[in-house]
Order: sequence, then structure tokens, then C-alpha cells
Amino acid sequence: MPTFSLTAINLGGFQIGESDKVISMFSAERGLVRAVAKGAKKPGTKMAGKSEALCANKLLIAKGRSLDIITQAESIETFRKVRTDLKRLTFCLYYAELTAAFGEGLEEESEVYYHVLLNSLRMQEALISDARQLSLEFSMFLLKQLGVSPELTVCVRCRQPLTEYNIAAFYSETGGIGCNRCGQDSRSKSIVSEVSVKGQYSSDFRKKRDEDVEHYEERGTFVTPLVWKMLVNADVASDDLIDPSTDLKARRRPDYSEAQAPALDAAHRLVQRYLEDRAGKKMRTLDLLKQL
Ligand SMILES: [Zn+2]
Repeated sequence: MPTFSLTAINLGGFQIGESDKVISMFSAERGLVRAVAKGAKKPGTKMAGKSEALCANKLLIAKGRSLDIITQAESIETFRKVRTDLKRLTFCLYYAELTAAFGEGLEEESEVYYHVLLNSLRMQEALISDARQLSLEFSMFLLKQLGVSPELTVCVRCRQPLTEYNIAAFYSETGGIGCNRCGQDSRSKSIVSEVSVKGQYSSDFRKKRDEDVEHYEERGTFVTPLVWKMLVNADVASDDLIDPSTDLKARRRPDYSEAQAPALDAAHRLVQRYLEDRAGKKMRTLDLLKQL
């Protein structure tokens, strides 16, 4: 049987037969792959530990007729500490969910993506910064790799430079932030807005928005200057993720304050929805955090 080697991170898997598991992985060499881990469902076996989601392994794989089979696995990283922190673990599993959803579009850059994913998981494990902040950066990196970075510096409609005084809403379908002038002009063109950050706007603004709603078509999400800045910062910081150095401390970011947490949450949700629109499906992993 022909064999080949892979360096891969496990994204998830399901049981087949009594003791085997089919694992989906993202590999540096081939992007998304699936292979059978024999005996992975037998407790206490070496393969059981190595086949867990998020584990990174060096693998030797035998080409099978329908499914390839893992014949050797050497552990690179198990992320044991992440597994004791439910919040961090949930964000790491969110990275895996995103990778499974978008992996097919990442084949050409699979080596770069593999290393960024591995380092991003390490950054979560090392508590380098707030889990959500890191996740926002990782999301921005993913969007860049997919070639669908949202427009954050000029109005997505009229190309006027955006500032904290003229930003208005994020338009997921159009792919970026629109200025307030376009938001008003759009009454004739029918564009819609939906408030996601409650209580951030004056009542006049809110009243005006409510009057306009029936004329609108595309659903946008209002963004505050702080949410916008967080998006821009995360976009810039995401460039660093490509740096292959494993000196994680050098990647520490200034933490946002408690008071800024709702804006960070809003920025993260906005980008998650943007990703979901691109994927054409909901991401479910982070729903778990709402139940905590
Ligand atoms: Zn504009």
C-alpha cells in the first residue's frame, strides 16, 4: 500500500465500527484531509489520545481504497492545558469549526494556514491575551486568507476614508463599513440597518433610523467608533500571525478593559456573522459560552 506523511491538526471526528474513528484534519501539506484512526475509540490506547480534536501530529498514512488509514502518529502538541479551561477550549474548537468550514478554500496556502492555526491555538493555551480578542484576530486572518477581508478603512460604497465621525454601519453582503452619508442616501436605494449594540445611540438617531427602516433592503449592523477601532486593530494585528516565530510572549497584546468588553463582544459577533454569511451556515461552537 502506498504511504505518505502529513503534519496535521485534528478538527473533529466520528466513530466507525466498534473501536475506530474517522478524523478530519487540516494538514500543512494537503489542507483538509480525512483518515481512519484504528483503535482510537479504545480507552487508554496511544491512538485514543492522539485522535482528540485539536491535537497536532506527524502522521504516516496508507492510501486506502475509500478511506486513508493512519499507520503511525507522533504527537507534536496535545493542548492539555486548554482542555482544563472551558472558555479557551471553546474558542479553540471554534477555530477548528471555522477551519472545517473554510478549509477547502485554503489548500493553496495550506502550509501558512497550518502554522498560523497551530500558533493561534498555542496563544490561546498560553493565555497571551483575552480569548475573544485573539479569536477576532484569528478570524481577520482567515478572512484575509480567503480573500474576503471586510473593507474597514474606506466607505464600502463611496470609497470616502472612514473616520470615527462618519462611520455608520457594517454591511455584510457588500463586505465592509459604510459612511453615514451613504447610510442616508441609501433611503432611495433601500438599505437596511439593525442595531446590535444597544444603547449606544442618541434617541434622535434611533428615531430617525426607525423611520427609515421600511425603506431599507440590505441589513447592516450599526458600529460604534470603538467597535470599528477594534476591528481595525485586529485586522492589523492579524498580519503578525504569519510570523513563524514561536516566541509567544512577543505576541502579547495590550488588554482591553472590562468596560470595553461589550464592544469587543459586538466586534466579534459582527465578524462571526460575516464569516457565517460567507460559509452559508451558522457556527455553533461558541453558543456553548452563552450557557455558562
Ligand atoms: Zn459612503
